[in-house]
Amino acid sequence: MRYVSTRGRAAELGFCDALLAGLATDGGLYVPKTWPTNPTLAGSTYASKAASLMAPYVEGEIPQDVFAQLCSTAYSAFRDPAVVPLVQIAPEHYLLELFHGPTLAFKDVALQLIGQLFDYVLTQRNQRVMIVGATSGDTGSAAIDGVKGCKNVDIVILYPNGRVSEVQRRQMTTIASPNVHTVAVDGTFDDCQDLVKAMFNDAPFREANRLSAVNSINWARVMAQTVYYFTALETLGRSASFSVPTGNFGNVLAGWIAKQMGADIEKLIVGSNSNDILTRFFETHSMDMLPVVPTLSPSMDIQVSSNFERLLFEMNNRDGGATTEQLNRFRQSGKLSVEPDQYEKWIAPTFRAHRANNDETLAVMKRIYGESGMLVDPHTAVGIASAEACAEPGVPTITLATAHPAKFPDAVKKATGVHPALPDHVADLFDREERIVNLPNDLQAIEAFVASCH
Ligand SMILES: *Cc1c(COP(=O)(O)O)cnc(C)c1O
Repeated sequence: MRYVSTRGRAAELGFCDALLAGLATDGGLYVPKTWPTNPTLAGSTYASKAASLMAPYVEGEIPQDVFAQLCSTAYSAFRDPAVVPLVQIAPEHYLLELFHGPTLAFKDVALQLIGQLFDYVLTQRNQRVMIVGATSGDTGSAAIDGVKGCKNVDIVILYPNGRVSEVQRRQMTTIASPNVHTVAVDGTFDDCQDLVKAMFNDAPFREANRLSAVNSINWARVMAQTVYYFTALETLGRSASFSVPTGNFGNVLAGWIAKQMGADIEKLIVGSNSNDILTRFFETHSMDMLPVVPTLSPSMDIQVSSNFERLLFEMNNRDGGATTEQLNRFRQSGKLSVEPDQYEKWIAPTFRAHRANNDETLAVMKRIYGESGMLVDPHTAVGIASAEACAEPGVPTITLATAHPAKFPDAVKKATGVHPALPDHVADLFDREERIVNLPNDLQAIEAFVASCH
């Protein structure tokens, strides 16, 4: 399988190079040249099904027995025998629990595998990389946990000092691996992101320190997320719609790809919080940037959904030049409109969208708790609200449960009065020793620190 950039000017790459590159050199995102069909779900475990389903994407680059072993190791970190169990919450409504990994959010599903893939590829090539990233909470902890055992990876994660939850901070700062470095930056999440961008734009620094990224535009993350759409449908035994609480559009894009690969998916329901750029797009056929407002579901507080570029590329019939022009206009004007025929062909048949504000989110959490005694996190609650708003008679809906309630205890307590307990495998989180470096919002200081981490 070869990979092409959505902007059409970067070199085609194989899987391993696309994995290590993350972003293409022309600023685009990598997508496979074709969508493989005839998916196979081999064996009885989630890991074996994952290995067979993703095989066409890594074919020719990673031997299948090795890939199966990497999947097996990655998913052994999950504390449910089904890895991602399907739980019924209403006659035609199911939750797919994606939060049984080490950091209690769905990002573990991709990042545990990415850690294995990086370690394998870098060992083969006798190379070492320095992953740098900025986080508002979930991505950083999942990335750190994914690579904490890697021999060839160092990782530096910047987070805004005082602006992540205590659970999120501790999940990053209590990992006692010498290759893991967590930096509390005196600034906002945007400051952290700007620092990371500046380091990548500093070519001599980037080369000298062999910087790499595992942010949500990395193809391998999207690839790993296609798997649970198939396994959930197999467990259910019939076709269904999926409701996906959405920020960067990565998870719901994985559902769209699963559908291209042959998964029996009816509708993909895009759930937003008050940062509803995608929901407004689906209503108006036009994307307008607005400032980010903080909500109870912070991992979806996003202004521009970067993975949407991959769908846009398809909507432009894989014309990288046209995609680039559309994105340039978006950057200049803050507005992106698609043609009616593009909308009718690509969006209308498949996508539905709903926005749930904080009040609706809390009301759902409260009602679900009252009905079933089940605690759900605020991101999952947005998904549940969206599933209910967009349900079609006779079609079951599977809502992706993207975080464990204990990851967002304040919102859960506010809605239900109950403080959610941490699951056993992380119950000692508050007793573990923290390691934090505190630095100013200053590029020189951050670069000096990164350079010292090899
Ligand atoms: C990252 C995240 C999301 C959003 O996922 P995208 O792939 O960015 O759309 C939703 N819920 C939780 C808990 C997350 O951590």
